[in-house]
Formats: sequence, structure tokens, C-alpha cells
Amino acid sequence: MNDEVELAPKFRSDVTVDLVRHAAQDSDVIWAARVSTTGEQSLEALQQDPDKSKGLINFLMRDRHGTPFEHNSMTFFISAPIFVFREFHRHRSGWSYNEESGRYRELQPVFYVPGTDRKLVQQGRPGRYEFVDGTEKQQTVVDEQMKAAYEASYAAYQQMLSEGVAREVARAVLPVGLFSSMYATCNARSLMHFLSLRTKDDRATVPSFPQREIEMVAEQMEAEWAKLMPLTHAAFNAHGRVAP
Ligand SMILES: Cc1cc2nc3c(=O)[nH]c(=O)nc-3n(C[C@H](O)[C@H](O)[C@H](O)COP(=O)(O)OP(=O)(O)OC[C@H]3O[C@@H](n4cnc5c(N)ncnc54)[C@H](O)[C@@H]3O)c2cc1C
Repeated sequence: MNDEVELAPKFRSDVTVDLVRHAAQDSDVIWAARVSTTGEQSLEALQQDPDKSKGLINFLMRDRHGTPFEHNSMTFFISAPIFVFREFHRHRSGWSYNEESGRYRELQPVFYVPGTDRKLVQQGRPGRYEFVDGTEKQQTVVDEQMKAAYEASYAAYQQMLSEGVAREVARAVLPVGLFSSMYATCNARSLMHFLSLRTKDDRATVPSFPQREIEMVAEQMEAEWAKLMPLTHAAFNAHGRVAP
């Protein structure tokens, strides 16, 4: 057993996203697109006419010329429950992932419990669910039962480790509410596709109904990206939040 592991479970209602590396700016879209007409001079033409650049980004977004939005890179460090990562890793195109290992390290007892603002009750039909607040009783039962299950499963994990059972075997008892961490690298095009599916936004021409917890991650990623590429972000919103 690793002495550095804190044995008492910790409970969190938030997720965290840090932008750890980036090479991403609106001008990356412009030079990539302008090679069509100016060839190798497209880099030199960059600063010549900012208004034209804005117009070009809007045109590319509107007509879904997607590849100029791929010549950039953002790496995020994300801490979120395993059930969020399970949804996240379905995004294959334009994404690279590395996640902490439950085989090579002892997993920390950090578990997700919904905050009081998390709507608990689902109504409606599949694909168009609406969520409404839970009653006080529902909030209490969620809080108590999740914490009890987390404590029991982590105690079982620890007992197996203390008997010399391998981490990769013992981890089977740990639930999807356990926090994990990963690096995720994407470009603006793959991020826009992710955001179109994992956020709910009135400006979207094709609405999506993501689980709230992955949306919490997506919102933080979008806020970081919007600072790096404000023209591209504005064009994404102006054209219905559809990835080009
Ligand atoms: C609200 C919501 C509910 C969901 N519910 C379920 C569910 O109940 N069960 C379930 O299994 N999944 C579910 N998913 C996951 C969903 O089916 C997708 O796996 C996920 O959204 C990733 O989308 P994507 O494949 O478009 O993304 P990416 O894998 O990033 O792909 C991006 C784009 O690349 C193209 N592409 C990628 N791979 C291929 C390929 N092999 N062939 C052709 N084109 C390709 C497609 O145009 C695709 O849109 C849900 C997703 C959302 C947002």
C-alpha cells in the first residue's frame, strides 16, 4: 500500500480543466485558408487586412470549409469522474488522450457527488429529456447513498491491496463516480464538433442534450478556447454552433 495515499474519501461536485499548452490563434486559420489563392505567400499576407480575415473566417465557417481550422493545437488537463471520460473518449477524430492508470498507481479516493444545483429528476422522452430540481429528500438520499457506496467500495479496494492483490484486479470494485485525470489534445475543428454535442446552447441550430457533468467540462474548455481564437469562436456561434 502506498503511504502517500489519503485513505479517507474526498467528495467533489466540480470538475477542473486547465489549458496546459497551446498553439492556437485565429491567424492560423487565415494562413491555412489563403494558401488556396496566394500559395507560399499566405503567411506574409496575414496582417494585411484584419477585417478581411474576420470575413474569411465567417465564410469558412458558414460554408463548412473545415480543414483550415485544424492547423492549431490545444492540450487540456482535465479532472472529472470516470463516467465523464467514458463519454469523452467516444470523440475519436482530431483528439489524443492520455489518462492516469489504475494498473500502475494506487487510485486516490476522490469521488463525485452532485452539487445542490445539479437537477436530479429526469422527465420526458429519450433524446429530449428535461431535468428538474430534486426534492430535499431526493438530494439527501443521493448524497447519503453515494457517499456510503463510495466508502464501502474504497474500503474493499484497500483491503484487497493490503492482502497483496494487484491494483489492476482490486480496482474492479471502484465505481464510475471515481475521479480520474487525463491530458486531451485537440484542434479547433475537433473541439467545435465536441462542443456542438456536449453543450446545450440556444444558438445551436441542431440542439444537443448532453449529460450535465460532461457539459461542465465542455464549458470550461470553450471558455479557454474563446480567449485564444475569438474570431473563430464568434463565427462558430454566429453559424449555429455547427463544426465546419
Ligand atoms: C447526447 C448524446 C447522447 C449519446 N448517447 C449515446 C448512447 O446512448 N450510446 C452510445 O453508444 N453513444 C452515445 N453517444 C455517443 C455518440 O454516439 C458518439 O459516439 C459521440 O457523440 C462522438 O461523436 P462522433 O462520432 O461524431 O465524434 P468523433 O468520433 O470525434 O468523430 C467526428 C466525426 O468524424 C467522422 N467519423 C469519425 N469516425 C468515423 C467512422 N468510423 N466512420 C465514418 N465517419 C467517422 C464523423 O463525421 C464524426 O461525426 C451520445 C452522444 C451524445 C452527445
